[in-house]
Parts: sequence; C-alpha cells; structure tokens
Amino acid sequence: MTGPAAVHFEEGEAFARRMDAEDPLRHFRDEFLFPRRKDGEPVIYLVGNSLGLQPRKARQYVLEELEDWERLGVEGHFHARHPWLPYHETVTAQTARLVGALPLEVVVMNTLSVNLHLMMVSFYRPTRERFKILIEGGAFPSDQYAVASQARFHGFDAEEAVLRLEPRPGEDTLRQEDILDTIDRHGPQIALVLLGNVNYLTGQAFDMKAISQAAHAQGCRVGFDLAHGAGNLRLSLHDDGPDFAVWCSYKYLNGGPGTLGGVFVHERHAHMPGLPRFEGWWGHDKATRFEMGPRFVPLPGAEGWQLSNPPILQLAALRASMELFDRATMPSLRLKGDVLTGYLEFLLERLPEGLVRIITPRGVGERGSQLSLRFGKEPRRLLARLTEAGVLCDFREPDIIRASPAPLYCTFLDVYRFVRILESHARD
Ligand SMILES: *Cc1c(COP(=O)(O)O)cnc(C)c1O
Repeated sequence: MTGPAAVHFEEGEAFARRMDAEDPLRHFRDEFLFPRRKDGEPVIYLVGNSLGLQPRKARQYVLEELEDWERLGVEGHFHARHPWLPYHETVTAQTARLVGALPLEVVVMNTLSVNLHLMMVSFYRPTRERFKILIEGGAFPSDQYAVASQARFHGFDAEEAVLRLEPRPGEDTLRQEDILDTIDRHGPQIALVLLGNVNYLTGQAFDMKAISQAAHAQGCRVGFDLAHGAGNLRLSLHDDGPDFAVWCSYKYLNGGPGTLGGVFVHERHAHMPGLPRFEGWWGHDKATRFEMGPRFVPLPGAEGWQLSNPPILQLAALRASMELFDRATMPSLRLKGDVLTGYLEFLLERLPEGLVRIITPRGVGERGSQLSLRFGKEPRRLLARLTEAGVLCDFREPDIIRASPAPLYCTFLDVYRFVRILESHARD
C-alpha cells in the first residue's frame, strides 16, 4: 500500500518541512513562475484547478515561434524548428500518456465547450424513444447550456430531455450507486450519459469504468468532461471505455489562459468514416489535404474531428507544460497529490469545531487534489484575509472555498501555512 494511509501525519511545521525535503517531485516547483506578494515571497497558490501557473519554459517556446515566424514567414509551416504543419502532433504522445489513451484516440484542438458540442454532434444522436441526456444537477454551467441547446437543436424540449442527478437530501455529493441506478432505470430513454470528472464544485470524482459499462449495457453513449480531471487524476480512458472525453488545458495542465482543449475518442470509433460529424479541412486525410478536393476523407481517430489549423503560439506554451507532466508522470503526481490533499484534510480536521466542513468525498480515489470547504463564519471576510496573507484560493457562492494544492508545484509547507491562516480567522 503506497497511498496516504501509509503516511503518518503530524501537526507541527517540522513535519511539513520534512515531507518537502523528502519529496522526489520537489524540483518541479522551480519550473514554474509564481505571482509574488508585496514582500517578494511567492504566493501560496491553491487555484491551479482554475488557472495553472506559467511554466518557466513557456515564454521561450512562444518566443521561438515568434522568431521563426519573423525569419521564415509562411515557410515556417515546413522549416520552423518545430514545423507548424504537423505542430499539434508535438503534444500527442504526451497527451495520450496523460489520459491513458492510445495516440490515435487523442487530439489537442479548440476549447472545451466547442469540443463538447463537436462530440455531441457525433455521439448524441437522439431518437423519439431514446433522446435524454443524463448529467449532474451540479454540472458546470457551460455543460448545462451545451446539453440543453443540443436537445433543442434536435427538436426536443430541454426540460424533458435533460435528466439531472442530484445528491440525496442532506448530502453534498452523489452516490455512485445512485448514478448506476439512474442509468439502469432510465437507460432505454437515455441517448447520452455526460458526467464531469472531477465535479468542479464539490471535487467529487466518479468511477468512469463502472459508469461507462453501465451506460453501454443500456445502449447509451457515454462521455466525460475532464476539465478538473486532466492533469489531476490518473486516467485510463482507453480501458475505462467511454465513447469520448473532453477537457481544457488551462487548469491543472498549466497551458495558459484560454488555451486549447483536448479530446478523446475511443478507438472503437476511430475507423468509422460514416460517423456523422462536423467537418473541416484539418480533419481531412493528411496525404490529400492539399489537393483541396471537395470530398471529405476523415483522418482515422480523434484527429478526424479537427476543423482548423491550430494556433501555434498556444500550442508552444502548452508544450512546455506537457513536457513537465511527462517527466513527472501522472502516477507519481497522483501519489504525491493524495498525500498532500490527505495532509490538508488532516490539518483541517484539527481546526476548532464548526469552523469548516469538508464537502469533498473523504476517500482517496473519490477525489483528486481539490477540497471544497464550507465556512460557517463570514466566508467572504475569510477570503479577503487569505488574499491579504498571500494565499490564492477561490470562492463559489454561497459559502464554498475551493483549495487545490497541485502536486507539481505546491508544497507541504504551503498547506501548513494555509491552515494556520484559517485557524487565526477562527480565533477572532
Ligand atoms: C472550466 C470548465 C469549463 C470551461 O469551458 P471552456 O469552454 O474552456 O471555457 C467547462 N466545463 C467544466 C466542467 C469546467 O470545469
């Protein structure tokens, strides 16, 4: 057993310092640029689940492309240090390793909500009998708008078509058995099961394999929104078997504000040129793309869903981060992440009664690096105090503070200091 259960946490600062000294991933922190407090110290950055920090190499990689553009103009498509024509392929192998997929199954393109729509064009094919989309009641707004608008686009009443999973009364998160039960009960009417993983608000992770199997057993398609899962959880998309997944790269993946998203399409759909999709020239067969013919011949796999040639500057910055993930590896990151999050939980549990309630599931495997905390006592004032003390977290209405110690660059000392600041809030 190598999980956090094997670590015996201690309350004092010395423990945090010792854990940092022994952390095999500690050097990765130096690969990132931190916002600074007024006194020049790096902030305690617990919002990597919202916008990841800038990798030190990102600037250099972007500058190289600007230089090659200056030097070569259009010739850069072929002669840049990293030729632009196949540029998106520079992150394919790393992306596949990151999410546990075959290279054929992944592509980096567009942004999350756009990709979600593109996937639904192919995998939400409602009929009169089977037209519903199952989502979490607490799904991210963009996902809710996307599914409702897709249902209406196909001529259905969104109220009727969108089925929502809700926690049981008095509970904060969904129970896995309730998800599976809903799929079983409504299966014949469900065209698509679309769940987040991890939930952005509660930090709850789902068992993607069990959900995929249950959905498929009922003849439904199944997709996952990995906005909070990619770069956070250890994923095995190919083996878990959903039809598709989408994610963004600016949260845990540190690709930069508003940067490109990623798509997974399972291998079973890789060689189905007849599958309905929206088509664009970058999804067309590379060998004949520049013959500029009128008939679309899709590339096999996820690349066949590309529409446009990709933004090179964004991809350049993303390369810098993907290299780091590849070096650190997701299994090692999750291992540290589980200990770091477990340590945060351990310290929070020792705060005065009633100050904070953790709503994220308590078991490793049911969450990643985020703990969502409910504060009884003036949550907004607390947030202001945290900001003033150089801690960046975020706040979601009405009283939730999300804290996410990303294992690539956060330390045990960060977590220790964060909790000491919370404690001082409790005292006055
Ligand atoms: C962050 C996030 C998004 C954001 O969508 P964009 O299209 O990248 O702006 C969508 N869904 C979920 C679940 C998210 O967490």
